[in-house]
Amino acid sequence: GLGWKSKYGEIDPAMKGALLDWEVVGGATTDADAHSGRQCLRLVHTAERAQTYLNRRWKLKGGEQGAMLDRLKGEVAYWYKAVSAKDASLWLGVIPMSVDPLENTGAPRTGIKVPAEHVGDGQWHRVTIPYDYTGNPKVKWVHVSCFLDGSAAELLLDDLEFLGAGVQPITNGGFEEVSPDRDGTREVVALCHKHGMRYLAYYWAQREPKSVGEAHPDWRCRNSAGKPTAYYCVNTAYRDLVRDRIVELVKEVGVDGVFFDMFHTRADECYCDACRAKFRMLTGQEPPPKQDYDSLLWQQWVEFKYRSIEEAMLDFNRAIKAANPEAALVVNTWNAWVYGNTHNTRNSIRVIENVDGLLEETGWYDVVDPSFFAFPARHNFMNWHLAGLCKGKRAFMWGAASLPGWLPLPPLEPRIRVLTMVTNGAVPAHSVPGRDTLKTYLGDIAEREDYFRGSRLAPWCGLVVSEKTELWYGRDDPKERYVKGVYGAYQSLLERHLPVSLVTDRELEVGKLEDHKVLFLPNCAAMSDAEIETVRRFVREGGGLVATYETSLYDEHGQPRETFGMADLLNAKKEG
Ligand SMILES: [Zn+2]
Repeated sequence: GLGWKSKYGEIDPAMKGALLDWEVVGGATTDADAHSGRQCLRLVHTAERAQTYLNRRWKLKGGEQGAMLDRLKGEVAYWYKAVSAKDASLWLGVIPMSVDPLENTGAPRTGIKVPAEHVGDGQWHRVTIPYDYTGNPKVKWVHVSCFLDGSAAELLLDDLEFLGAGVQPITNGGFEEVSPDRDGTREVVALCHKHGMRYLAYYWAQREPKSVGEAHPDWRCRNSAGKPTAYYCVNTAYRDLVRDRIVELVKEVGVDGVFFDMFHTRADECYCDACRAKFRMLTGQEPPPKQDYDSLLWQQWVEFKYRSIEEAMLDFNRAIKAANPEAALVVNTWNAWVYGNTHNTRNSIRVIENVDGLLEETGWYDVVDPSFFAFPARHNFMNWHLAGLCKGKRAFMWGAASLPGWLPLPPLEPRIRVLTMVTNGAVPAHSVPGRDTLKTYLGDIAEREDYFRGSRLAPWCGLVVSEKTELWYGRDDPKERYVKGVYGAYQSLLERHLPVSLVTDRELEVGKLEDHKVLFLPNCAAMSDAEIETVRRFVREGGGLVATYETSLYDEHGQPRETFGMADLLNAKKEG
């Protein structure tokens, strides 16, 4: 998301990095000096302004936390250089705020004045300021601030840190900013390679500046009414632009791969001319405008949309690997269940076959639907599921946002989730608010490295997760109709410490299974004859079988069978 100097034009400025989370009056970042990195914040006060100041990002009486800290006890640290001061006061510290928010709690500010002997001495100084507002129930949040007043003053600030217990929620402490005239991606590539790190560039997919849409109206996705949407379609020549850009990134800018955010297929997309023509060529029919799970044409249309994304991923992956065989392609599947089925790339076994890694954003359950799964096995399940689908490729999990004001999590919770990820074979792709927090996470992992390294899930129980059942039996409510049953089976196995690994319906389809002792099919309703035959063979060869509810009562399109497809194995029949 840093942008780079490209022969294919600029990406949308809104997708580049920017200074976040601070309210600054009378100041800006500067390249002229820095305590660390390349930039610091320069505050310049003159008598024309009553005060020059720095606060956390917030809104007066907005009722929201904004970027203020919710740690009522702790310690903050500043690096400062006092360039000049004339009849002026230079104050650094913490301001207690009410829920309004306003500074009306009755509690005093906690801070220091920059000593006169530091003014003009040309040195960076560090000050730490401990504060404690836990005794005042009116204090809800705190600002981390700096105030200059008087005749004239100039102060440089850098590397602000929160030092108290728990998560350190000050971001952008270094005041680094990606300015439009710099080449952020090349700078980061150089820095990473210097330290022996690989760098995958973030790419916000399917969004473009207005100029691109004006020059190529036919590249835009369209809804069923024919209106252009906010996105761009991979079945048009837009795909060439993306391919050219990522090849340039790998070949000329030197990134080690690309991370696509949000390559999705959406509910009422895409009915552009290119998609219509391609669908007609494959099926001889027009795309159906209305959702109808009983219609095979509708199912074909949904499949067509998924296959279009997967085909583009394979195309992109081949292109960057032609430029550098080591280059990796990772795609964000977001999460299919939390927002319903039709919105996403999906955590699909078919997507992972075409890329090198999937990223999933389970952290959104905290805000969108905390009731989805019973805590605490939810995160075990989500990581187990993602890593199971990835089958040895990289499974990246974003388990929680730790920026203040985003999600209401105590600091220990994201830390536990990081270990849950590693335990279940996923790679933590967490938001980390500061270096100390990262150090804690890495320390936790390092302590257990002997257990993690080279380990894999023992294939004792194979728990079947069926994409067909999720799609065509789960229909418009897959998590209620299907996914919760899988989760329940997983939780019961986990709580009894029984080894469980994931089996996809694709593996049943092709008849390729690991050396399981038992297969567990929790309401695996939609099954093809080939899948049923694989289970039959497994049982014939001595494998155990657990199947619940409507397992095998529907075919692969979710159409009801006369009776259970596995009636012979289950010794059961349908009654009414
Ligand atoms: Zn299209």
